[in-house]
Amino acid sequence: MKTKVMIAGGGVGGLMAALKLAKCGYDVTVAEQTKNSAHLYKGELLQPKSIQLFEQAGVQEQVISTGHPINEIEIIEMKRKNDQYHQLGKAVMDYNIINSRYNYALMIPHEILKNILLEEAEKYQGFNLIRPARFTGFRNGKALVKTSEQELEIEADVYIGAEGRKSKVREAMNVPVKEQTYDHHFLTVSFPRPPSLTEGRMISTAHTFLGLFPLPDNKVRTVYLISSGEYKEMKEKGIQYFHERYLELCPDLDGYVTQIKSWKEIQLMIPVHFHAEHYVKGNKAIIGDAAHSVHPMAGEGMNLAIQDGDALGELLCWIFENGYEPEKYLDWYEEVRRPRVEHILNISHLSSIPYSKPFKYFTRIRNKGIKQMTKDPKLHTKQMLNISGLGIWKETFLDRMIQVGMLPARTYQNIQLMHERYMFSSENDYPWRTKGGNSHA
Ligand SMILES: Cc1cc2nc3c(=O)[nH]c(=O)nc-3n(C[C@H](O)[C@H](O)[C@H](O)COP(=O)(O)OP(=O)(O)OC[C@H]3O[C@@H](n4cnc5c(N)ncnc54)[C@H](O)[C@@H]3O)c2cc1C
Repeated sequence: MKTKVMIAGGGVGGLMAALKLAKCGYDVTVAEQTKNSAHLYKGELLQPKSIQLFEQAGVQEQVISTGHPINEIEIIEMKRKNDQYHQLGKAVMDYNIINSRYNYALMIPHEILKNILLEEAEKYQGFNLIRPARFTGFRNGKALVKTSEQELEIEADVYIGAEGRKSKVREAMNVPVKEQTYDHHFLTVSFPRPPSLTEGRMISTAHTFLGLFPLPDNKVRTVYLISSGEYKEMKEKGIQYFHERYLELCPDLDGYVTQIKSWKEIQLMIPVHFHAEHYVKGNKAIIGDAAHSVHPMAGEGMNLAIQDGDALGELLCWIFENGYEPEKYLDWYEEVRRPRVEHILNISHLSSIPYSKPFKYFTRIRNKGIKQMTKDPKLHTKQMLNISGLGIWKETFLDRMIQVGMLPARTYQNIQLMHERYMFSSENDYPWRTKGGNSHA
């Protein structure tokens, strides 16, 4: 079997790349190992840049109408005294501070998002999905894909590994990764929410963290931090213990979290951090979790996969339109994406440190840092712009001094004008279109 581009893995990253290629009129084949939608939770927070890319891909209406917008995230620090939690401080991280029409995030169930991408891709003749079909490796330069009936040999101009953390394409490219784990894990579950809970909320204590992110259909996605190894012990204490842990931090959830009747509904999430040394080798490239894995604290993994899929899909369209050899020009993808991913990996990793030992016990310092960040408009804008994916505005030593409270917060009049120059233009996103040649020329 022949195709122009073969993609192993039909997650958000693989489907985004496939949609871009199919829209350009190229033949693209996706092999996805699962038969139906997975019931695993896999990330639901869409950052502003991903919303912008969905508009370009022609699916923004479906995405927005099925998602729940998040304008701000309230951050509450709590301290335990006399067997009860009391509020130590509060700050608000506000997406609206970004001067863009994509100045909000969106919560959307992962499988619904994948279905939107799939339905759109299926409108184009060049799109093929083989499912269930497992990519197992390469033989004589062709991809081997196993279905229940046969083993297919697929010949393509370009092969994309979009199969997540355990990527076989990455293995075939001989690109090593060094996984870093953390001293904490997360429990995650969604359930109906109180009507007043319409924006994001993060509640921290010296021992844990509860993230509440409203979903459509009056539900809320919750993420609860536990020490690594604590899961088994908690399960043994029964589901009531889980309810109590939530309710001591957020009494508003009474009558809602209690609708969770069994530990089977709760998923354990183990954060892992890695960044592959290369994204491209010859006519092979890796995207999304195959290329990098990010701590979930900043809600970025799914967004990085979508943004990789967009950049690689757009680059391949340009390569094919011009009749160029993919091997010569694929490094543009790595040139654009690697520094952006590296920046987000660092932000996510840094966000995890205040919740790791021994720093998690310094609640007052953490509270001060977050307060300073939202009080200082420059720091606040930098933080929101950087996590949005719409641009990069790096923090300086001075910023860090302000954040830890060693210097006072600044006041600015024209912060909007200042941050616009740090936002990515279409030329920054797709530089090959204006610069041509390969990225190192
Ligand atoms: C519990 C949890 C919570 C998360 N929360 C967030 C969040 O809030 N926000 C966020 O942005 N990100 C979040 N993430 C991360 C996010 O889910 C991933 O970063 C994102 O799904 C990566 O997309 P991907 O397309 O690269 O890989 P995946 O989504 O992993 O998709 C890979 C696909 O490839 C298929 N596959 C695997 N091997 C093969 C094979 N050999 N042959 C064929 N098919 C194969 C798989 O079945 C899967 O469908 C979370 C992840 C987890 C696990």
